[in-house]
Amino acid sequence: MSISRLTPIFDEFKLPSFKPNIKDSFMTTYNFFAGPAILPSKVIRQSSEALLNFENMGLSIMEISHRSPQFMSVMKEAQSHVKELLALDDDYSVLFLTGGASTQFYMSALNYLPERGNASYIDTGAWSSKAIKEAAAIGKVQVIASSKDQNYSYIPVDYAIPSDTQYVHFTSNNTIYGTQFHQLPPTEAPLICDMSSDIFSKPINMMPYGMIYAGAQKNMGPAGVTLVVLNKNKFQKAERHIPTMLDYDTHIAKGSMFNTPPVLPIYVSMLTMRWIIAQGGLEAMEVRNSKKAQLLYDAIDNSRLFNAIVNKKDRSQMNVCFGIEDTALESSFLKACTSQRCIGIKGHRSVGGFRASIYNAMKMEGVEKLVDILSKFDREHGG
Ligand code: PMP
Repeated sequence: MSISRLTPIFDEFKLPSFKPNIKDSFMTTYNFFAGPAILPSKVIRQSSEALLNFENMGLSIMEISHRSPQFMSVMKEAQSHVKELLALDDDYSVLFLTGGASTQFYMSALNYLPERGNASYIDTGAWSSKAIKEAAAIGKVQVIASSKDQNYSYIPVDYAIPSDTQYVHFTSNNTIYGTQFHQLPPTEAPLICDMSSDIFSKPINMMPYGMIYAGAQKNMGPAGVTLVVLNKNKFQKAERHIPTMLDYDTHIAKGSMFNTPPVLPIYVSMLTMRWIIAQGGLEAMEVRNSKKAQLLYDAIDNSRLFNAIVNKKDRSQMNVCFGIEDTALESSFLKACTSQRCIGIKGHRSVGGFRASIYNAMKMEGVEKLVDILSKFDREHGG
Protein backbone atom coordinates (compact mmCIF):
# COMPACT_ATOMS: atom_id res chain seq x y z
CA MET A 1 0.00 0.00 0.00
CA SER A 2 1.35 3.39 -0.94
CA ILE A 3 1.45 5.98 1.79
CA SER A 4 3.21 8.64 -0.25
CA ARG A 5 0.05 10.71 -0.27
CA LEU A 6 0.42 11.24 3.43
CA THR A 7 4.09 12.03 3.58
CA PRO A 8 3.60 15.80 3.13
CA ILE A 9 1.08 15.83 5.98
CA PHE A 10 3.50 14.15 8.33
CA ASP A 11 6.23 16.59 7.28
CA GLU A 12 4.03 19.63 7.58
CA PHE A 13 2.81 18.85 11.08
CA LYS A 14 6.07 17.28 12.19
CA LEU A 15 4.20 14.13 13.09
CA PRO A 16 6.11 10.92 13.72
CA SER A 17 6.28 8.88 10.55
CA PHE A 18 3.33 6.63 9.81
CA LYS A 19 3.46 3.21 11.41
CA PRO A 20 1.15 0.79 9.60
CA ASN A 21 1.23 -1.55 12.59
CA ILE A 22 0.07 1.07 15.06
CA LYS A 23 -2.85 -1.11 16.24
CA ASP A 24 -0.33 -3.70 17.45
CA SER A 25 0.63 -1.47 20.35
CA PHE A 26 -2.99 -1.58 21.58
CA MET A 27 -3.44 -5.33 21.11
CA THR A 28 -2.94 -6.07 24.77
CA THR A 29 -5.72 -3.69 25.86
CA TYR A 30 -8.91 -5.67 26.35
CA ASN A 31 -11.90 -3.51 25.56
CA PHE A 32 -14.95 -4.49 27.65
CA PHE A 33 -16.91 -1.32 26.93
CA ALA A 34 -20.62 -1.75 26.14
CA GLY A 35 -20.55 0.36 23.01
CA PRO A 36 -18.99 1.70 20.94
CA ALA A 37 -17.17 -1.53 21.46
CA ILE A 38 -14.38 -3.85 20.47
CA LEU A 39 -13.90 -4.71 16.79
CA PRO A 40 -11.76 -7.52 15.37
CA SER A 41 -8.16 -6.29 15.03
CA LYS A 42 -8.06 -7.57 11.45
CA VAL A 43 -11.01 -5.31 10.62
CA ILE A 44 -9.28 -2.32 12.22
CA ARG A 45 -6.14 -2.98 10.23
CA GLN A 46 -8.04 -3.32 6.95
CA SER A 47 -10.05 -0.19 7.71
CA SER A 48 -6.93 1.80 8.46
CA GLU A 49 -5.51 0.77 5.08
CA ALA A 50 -8.73 1.85 3.37
CA LEU A 51 -8.53 5.20 5.16
CA LEU A 52 -5.28 5.86 3.35
CA ASN A 53 -5.77 4.24 -0.02
CA PHE A 54 -9.00 2.47 -0.84
CA GLU A 55 -8.88 -0.25 -3.51
CA ASN A 56 -5.78 1.37 -4.97
CA MET A 57 -7.81 4.38 -6.05
CA GLY A 58 -5.23 6.70 -4.49
CA LEU A 59 -8.11 8.04 -2.41
CA SER A 60 -9.31 7.50 1.11
CA ILE A 61 -12.57 5.59 1.61
CA MET A 62 -13.74 8.80 3.34
CA GLU A 63 -13.53 10.85 0.15
CA ILE A 64 -14.96 8.55 -2.50
CA SER A 65 -18.40 8.97 -4.04
CA HIS A 66 -21.12 6.76 -2.70
CA ARG A 67 -22.13 6.28 -6.34
CA SER A 68 -18.68 5.02 -7.34
CA PRO A 69 -18.58 1.41 -8.54
CA GLN A 70 -16.17 0.70 -5.68
CA PHE A 71 -18.65 1.78 -3.01
CA MET A 72 -21.62 0.26 -4.82
CA SER A 73 -19.81 -3.04 -4.57
CA VAL A 74 -19.20 -2.50 -0.81
CA MET A 75 -22.92 -1.88 -0.32
CA LYS A 76 -23.81 -4.94 -2.36
CA GLU A 77 -21.40 -7.12 -0.43
CA ALA A 78 -22.62 -5.76 2.94
CA GLN A 79 -26.24 -6.51 2.01
CA SER A 80 -25.40 -9.96 0.74
CA HIS A 81 -23.49 -10.80 3.96
CA VAL A 82 -26.54 -9.82 6.01
CA LYS A 83 -28.70 -12.01 3.77
CA GLU A 84 -26.30 -14.91 4.12
CA LEU A 85 -25.84 -14.59 7.90
CA LEU A 86 -29.58 -14.35 8.54
CA ALA A 87 -30.58 -16.75 5.73
CA LEU A 88 -33.04 -14.18 4.38
CA ASP A 89 -35.40 -14.82 1.53
CA ASP A 90 -36.23 -12.14 -1.04
CA ASP A 91 -39.15 -10.81 1.00
CA TYR A 92 -36.69 -9.15 3.38
CA SER A 93 -35.02 -5.82 2.62
CA VAL A 94 -31.66 -4.92 4.12
CA LEU A 95 -31.15 -1.24 4.87
CA PHE A 96 -28.23 0.69 6.35
CA LEU A 97 -29.70 3.86 7.82
CA THR A 98 -28.52 6.72 10.00
CA GLY A 99 -30.00 8.10 13.22
CA GLY A 100 -29.06 5.17 15.45
CA ALA A 101 -31.33 2.50 16.88
CA SER A 102 -33.06 5.37 18.70
CA THR A 103 -34.56 6.66 15.44
CA GLN A 104 -36.01 3.20 14.81
CA PHE A 105 -38.02 3.46 18.05
CA TYR A 106 -40.08 6.15 16.35
CA MET A 107 -39.76 5.15 12.72
CA SER A 108 -41.02 1.59 13.19
CA ALA A 109 -44.21 2.83 14.87
CA LEU A 110 -44.66 5.68 12.39
CA ASN A 111 -44.70 3.18 9.53
CA TYR A 112 -46.41 0.16 11.06
CA LEU A 113 -48.68 1.32 13.87
CA PRO A 114 -51.87 2.29 12.02
CA GLU A 115 -54.29 4.91 13.38
CA ARG A 116 -56.87 2.31 14.33
CA GLY A 117 -54.49 -0.41 15.43
CA ASN A 118 -52.56 -1.16 18.58
CA ALA A 119 -49.12 -2.53 19.25
CA SER A 120 -47.70 -4.57 22.14
CA TYR A 121 -44.41 -3.75 23.84
CA ILE A 122 -42.36 -5.66 26.39
CA ASP A 123 -40.52 -3.38 28.79
CA THR A 124 -37.18 -4.87 29.80
CA GLY A 125 -35.18 -1.74 30.43
CA ALA A 126 -34.18 1.77 29.45
CA TRP A 127 -34.02 1.07 25.72
CA SER A 128 -37.42 -0.63 25.57
CA SER A 129 -38.89 2.19 27.67
CA LYS A 130 -37.59 4.67 25.12
CA ALA A 131 -39.12 2.64 22.30
CA ILE A 132 -42.44 2.62 24.20
CA LYS A 133 -42.34 6.38 24.76
CA GLU A 134 -41.71 7.09 21.08
CA ALA A 135 -44.40 4.69 19.84
CA ALA A 136 -46.95 5.98 22.36
CA ALA A 137 -46.60 9.42 20.79
CA ILE A 138 -47.84 7.91 17.53
CA GLY A 139 -50.56 5.39 18.36
CA LYS A 140 -52.06 2.97 20.81
CA VAL A 141 -49.41 1.07 22.71
CA GLN A 142 -49.96 -1.65 25.29
CA VAL A 143 -47.15 -2.57 27.65
CA ILE A 144 -47.95 -6.27 27.96
CA ALA A 145 -45.11 -7.15 30.35
CA SER A 146 -42.42 -5.36 32.33
CA SER A 147 -39.59 -6.25 34.69
CA LYS A 148 -39.31 -2.72 36.04
CA ASP A 149 -40.44 -3.90 39.51
CA GLN A 150 -37.02 -5.52 40.05
CA ASN A 151 -34.85 -3.01 38.27
CA TYR A 152 -35.03 -5.05 35.05
CA SER A 153 -33.08 -7.99 36.47
CA TYR A 154 -35.21 -10.61 34.70
CA ILE A 155 -37.12 -11.31 31.49
CA PRO A 156 -40.90 -11.46 32.04
CA VAL A 157 -42.83 -14.68 31.36
CA ASP A 158 -46.53 -15.62 31.44
CA TYR A 159 -48.09 -12.55 29.92
CA ALA A 160 -51.05 -12.28 27.58
CA ILE A 161 -50.62 -10.91 24.08
CA PRO A 162 -53.72 -9.29 22.55
CA SER A 163 -54.78 -11.25 19.46
CA ASP A 164 -55.42 -8.05 17.48
CA THR A 165 -51.96 -6.57 18.04
CA GLN A 166 -50.23 -5.23 14.92
CA TYR A 167 -46.86 -6.37 16.17
CA VAL A 168 -44.93 -7.22 19.34
CA HIS A 169 -41.85 -5.15 20.08
CA PHE A 170 -39.03 -6.31 22.37
CA THR A 171 -35.33 -5.77 23.05
CA SER A 172 -33.52 -9.07 22.64
CA ASN A 173 -30.53 -8.14 24.80
CA ASN A 174 -30.61 -5.53 27.51
CA THR A 175 -27.18 -3.94 27.36
CA ILE A 176 -27.47 -2.02 30.62
CA TYR A 177 -28.89 -4.78 32.84
CA GLY A 178 -27.29 -7.89 31.35
CA THR A 179 -30.47 -9.82 30.53
CA GLN A 180 -31.29 -11.54 27.27
CA PHE A 181 -34.37 -13.22 25.80
CA HIS A 182 -33.66 -16.94 25.35
CA GLN A 183 -37.22 -17.59 24.17
CA LEU A 184 -39.34 -15.55 21.83
CA PRO A 185 -42.62 -13.93 22.92
CA PRO A 186 -45.35 -16.46 22.10
CA THR A 187 -47.36 -14.83 19.34
CA GLU A 188 -48.43 -15.19 15.73
CA ALA A 189 -48.10 -11.42 15.24
CA PRO A 190 -44.92 -10.18 13.57
CA LEU A 191 -42.09 -9.39 15.97
CA ILE A 192 -40.14 -6.15 15.87
CA CYS A 193 -36.90 -6.53 17.74
CA ASP A 194 -34.17 -4.15 18.83
CA MET A 195 -31.12 -6.39 18.45
CA SER A 196 -28.54 -3.64 18.95
CA SER A 197 -26.45 -5.56 21.44
CA ASP A 198 -26.72 -9.16 20.28
CA ILE A 199 -27.06 -9.02 16.51
CA PHE A 200 -24.85 -11.64 14.82
CA SER A 201 -23.91 -13.24 18.15
CA LYS A 202 -25.84 -16.47 17.39
CA PRO A 203 -28.01 -17.91 14.62
CA ILE A 204 -31.44 -16.32 14.24
CA ASN A 205 -34.52 -17.83 12.64
CA MET A 206 -35.98 -14.78 10.95
CA MET A 207 -39.40 -16.30 10.21
CA PRO A 208 -41.24 -14.80 13.22
CA TYR A 209 -39.72 -11.37 12.69
CA GLY A 210 -41.30 -8.64 10.63
CA MET A 211 -38.41 -6.36 11.39
CA ILE A 212 -35.18 -6.21 13.34
CA TYR A 213 -32.89 -3.26 13.84
CA ALA A 214 -29.51 -2.71 15.43
CA GLY A 215 -27.13 0.17 15.95
CA ALA A 216 -23.83 -1.09 14.54
CA GLN A 217 -21.57 -0.10 17.40
CA LYS A 218 -21.48 -3.38 19.34
CA ASN A 219 -21.24 -6.48 17.19
CA MET A 220 -21.28 -5.06 13.69
CA GLY A 221 -19.11 -2.01 13.22
CA PRO A 222 -18.49 1.53 14.36
CA ALA A 223 -21.18 4.02 15.41
CA GLY A 224 -22.89 5.84 12.56
CA VAL A 225 -24.96 3.19 10.83
CA THR A 226 -28.04 1.22 11.85
CA LEU A 227 -28.96 -2.07 10.30
CA VAL A 228 -32.65 -2.52 9.51
CA VAL A 229 -33.93 -5.81 8.12
CA LEU A 230 -37.60 -5.88 7.32
CA ASN A 231 -40.31 -7.77 5.53
CA LYS A 232 -42.83 -5.09 4.71
CA ASN A 233 -45.41 -7.67 3.63
CA LYS A 234 -45.83 -8.67 7.26
CA PHE A 235 -47.19 -5.27 8.27
CA GLN A 236 -50.15 -3.07 7.64
CA LYS A 237 -48.69 0.26 6.55
CA ALA A 238 -50.02 3.29 8.44
CA GLU A 239 -51.91 5.74 6.26
CA ARG A 240 -50.64 8.91 7.95
CA HIS A 241 -48.22 11.30 6.25
CA ILE A 242 -44.69 9.97 6.73
CA PRO A 243 -41.75 12.30 6.03
CA THR A 244 -39.69 10.99 3.09
CA MET A 245 -36.61 10.10 5.12
CA LEU A 246 -38.65 8.29 7.78
CA ASP A 247 -40.55 6.16 5.29
CA TYR A 248 -39.09 2.67 4.92
CA ASP A 249 -40.48 2.48 1.39
CA THR A 250 -38.19 5.36 0.37
CA HIS A 251 -35.12 3.40 1.40
CA ILE A 252 -36.36 0.05 0.12
CA ALA A 253 -37.11 1.54 -3.31
CA LYS A 254 -33.59 2.98 -3.60
CA GLY A 255 -31.65 0.00 -2.23
CA SER A 256 -30.61 1.99 0.85
CA MET A 257 -29.08 4.68 -1.39
CA PHE A 258 -31.83 7.34 -1.37
CA ASN A 259 -29.43 9.82 0.20
CA THR A 260 -25.71 9.65 1.00
CA PRO A 261 -25.25 6.57 3.17
CA PRO A 262 -22.58 6.49 5.90
CA VAL A 263 -19.84 5.15 3.65
CA LEU A 264 -17.13 4.44 6.22
CA PRO A 265 -19.33 2.73 8.86
CA ILE A 266 -20.92 0.57 6.15
CA TYR A 267 -17.48 -0.41 4.89
CA VAL A 268 -16.26 -1.37 8.37
CA SER A 269 -19.50 -3.28 9.02
CA MET A 270 -19.04 -5.15 5.75
CA LEU A 271 -15.50 -6.12 6.82
CA THR A 272 -16.79 -7.26 10.21
CA MET A 273 -19.42 -9.47 8.57
CA ARG A 274 -16.74 -10.86 6.23
CA TRP A 275 -14.73 -11.66 9.37
CA ILE A 276 -17.73 -13.36 11.03
CA ILE A 277 -18.29 -15.52 7.95
CA ALA A 278 -14.58 -16.42 7.77
CA GLN A 279 -14.72 -17.50 11.44
CA GLY A 280 -17.49 -19.97 10.64
CA GLY A 281 -20.58 -17.74 10.72
CA LEU A 282 -23.16 -17.35 13.44
CA GLU A 283 -22.92 -20.97 14.64
CA ALA A 284 -19.23 -20.43 15.38
CA MET A 285 -19.98 -17.08 17.05
CA GLU A 286 -22.51 -18.77 19.31
CA VAL A 287 -20.06 -21.48 20.37
CA ARG A 288 -17.34 -18.92 21.14
CA ASN A 289 -19.73 -16.57 22.91
CA SER A 290 -21.22 -19.30 25.11
CA LYS A 291 -17.76 -20.51 26.14
CA LYS A 292 -16.65 -17.00 27.07
CA ALA A 293 -19.84 -16.24 28.99
CA GLN A 294 -19.73 -19.59 30.80
CA LEU A 295 -16.13 -19.02 31.90
CA LEU A 296 -16.90 -15.60 33.29
CA TYR A 297 -20.20 -16.50 34.99
CA ASP A 298 -18.58 -19.58 36.54
CA ALA A 299 -15.77 -17.46 37.98
CA ILE A 300 -18.33 -15.03 39.42
CA ASP A 301 -20.53 -17.84 40.82
CA ASN A 302 -17.52 -19.59 42.37
CA SER A 303 -16.17 -16.47 44.01
CA ARG A 304 -16.87 -15.38 47.56
CA LEU A 305 -16.99 -11.66 46.82
CA PHE A 306 -18.74 -11.28 43.52
CA ASN A 307 -22.30 -12.06 42.50
CA ALA A 308 -24.10 -12.07 39.17
CA ILE A 309 -27.03 -9.75 39.62
CA VAL A 310 -29.61 -11.04 37.17
CA ASN A 311 -31.97 -13.98 37.14
CA LYS A 312 -29.80 -16.98 36.23
CA LYS A 313 -31.85 -18.25 33.28
CA ASP A 314 -32.03 -14.77 31.75
CA ARG A 315 -28.32 -14.02 31.80
CA SER A 316 -26.90 -12.27 28.77
CA GLN A 317 -24.13 -13.86 26.73
CA MET A 318 -23.01 -10.37 25.70
CA ASN A 319 -23.09 -8.12 28.76
CA VAL A 320 -22.10 -9.81 31.99
CA CYS A 321 -23.30 -7.66 34.91
CA PHE A 322 -22.05 -8.40 38.39
CA GLY A 323 -21.64 -6.80 41.77
CA ILE A 324 -19.41 -7.07 44.81
CA GLU A 325 -20.75 -7.62 48.30
CA ASP A 326 -18.51 -5.06 49.95
CA THR A 327 -19.08 -2.01 47.75
CA ALA A 328 -16.11 -0.28 49.39
CA LEU A 329 -13.97 -2.63 47.29
CA GLU A 330 -15.52 -1.50 43.99
CA SER A 331 -12.96 1.11 43.11
CA SER A 332 -9.98 -1.09 43.96
CA PHE A 333 -11.34 -3.88 41.73
CA LEU A 334 -11.77 -1.38 38.89
CA LYS A 335 -8.22 -0.20 39.47
CA ALA A 336 -6.96 -3.78 39.38
CA CYS A 337 -8.70 -4.25 36.02
CA THR A 338 -7.51 -1.05 34.37
CA SER A 339 -3.94 -1.44 35.62
CA GLN A 340 -3.90 -4.78 33.81
CA ARG A 341 -5.43 -3.27 30.69
CA CYS A 342 -8.93 -4.61 31.06
CA ILE A 343 -10.97 -1.49 30.44
CA GLY A 344 -14.67 -0.57 30.40
CA ILE A 345 -15.71 -2.76 33.35
CA LYS A 346 -17.66 -0.14 35.32
CA GLY A 347 -21.38 -0.93 35.42
CA HIS A 348 -24.00 1.46 34.07
CA ARG A 349 -24.91 4.15 36.63
CA SER A 350 -28.50 2.86 36.91
CA VAL A 351 -27.33 -0.61 37.98
CA GLY A 352 -23.93 0.01 39.60
CA GLY A 353 -21.31 -2.68 40.08
CA PHE A 354 -19.55 -4.02 37.02
CA ARG A 355 -20.34 -4.95 33.46
CA ALA A 356 -18.06 -6.84 31.12
CA SER A 357 -19.22 -6.70 27.52
CA ILE A 358 -17.90 -9.71 25.67
CA TYR A 359 -19.09 -9.18 22.12
CA ASN A 360 -18.04 -11.32 19.13
CA ALA A 361 -14.63 -9.68 18.75
CA MET A 362 -13.58 -10.25 22.37
CA LYS A 363 -11.16 -13.16 22.35
CA MET A 364 -11.21 -15.98 24.86
CA GLU A 365 -7.81 -14.75 26.10
CA GLY A 366 -9.42 -11.41 27.09
CA VAL A 367 -12.03 -13.18 29.20
CA GLU A 368 -9.34 -15.45 30.70
CA LYS A 369 -7.36 -12.36 31.65
CA LEU A 370 -10.41 -10.82 33.37
CA VAL A 371 -11.16 -14.09 35.14
CA ASP A 372 -7.55 -14.20 36.43
CA ILE A 373 -7.86 -10.68 37.81
CA LEU A 374 -11.23 -11.44 39.37
CA SER A 375 -10.13 -14.72 40.96
CA LYS A 376 -6.92 -13.21 42.32
CA PHE A 377 -8.86 -10.27 43.76
CA ASP A 378 -11.32 -12.72 45.32
CA ARG A 379 -8.51 -14.72 46.96
CA GLU A 380 -6.87 -11.57 48.31
CA HIS A 381 -9.98 -9.84 49.64
CA GLY A 382 -12.59 -12.54 50.12
CA GLY A 383 -10.97 -14.57 52.87
N1 PMP B 1 -30.95 -0.34 22.00
C1 PMP B 1 -30.01 -0.95 22.73
C2 PMP B 1 -30.28 -2.36 23.19
C3 PMP B 1 -28.82 -0.31 23.04
O1 PMP B 1 -27.89 -0.93 23.78
C4 PMP B 1 -28.62 1.01 22.60
C5 PMP B 1 -27.34 1.71 22.93
N2 PMP B 1 -26.42 1.60 21.93
C6 PMP B 1 -29.63 1.62 21.83
C7 PMP B 1 -30.78 0.92 21.55
C8 PMP B 1 -29.48 3.01 21.32
O2 PMP B 1 -28.73 2.96 20.17
P1 PMP B 1 -28.26 4.25 19.40
O3 PMP B 1 -27.27 4.94 20.26
O4 PMP B 1 -27.65 3.69 18.14
O5 PMP B 1 -29.44 5.11 19.12
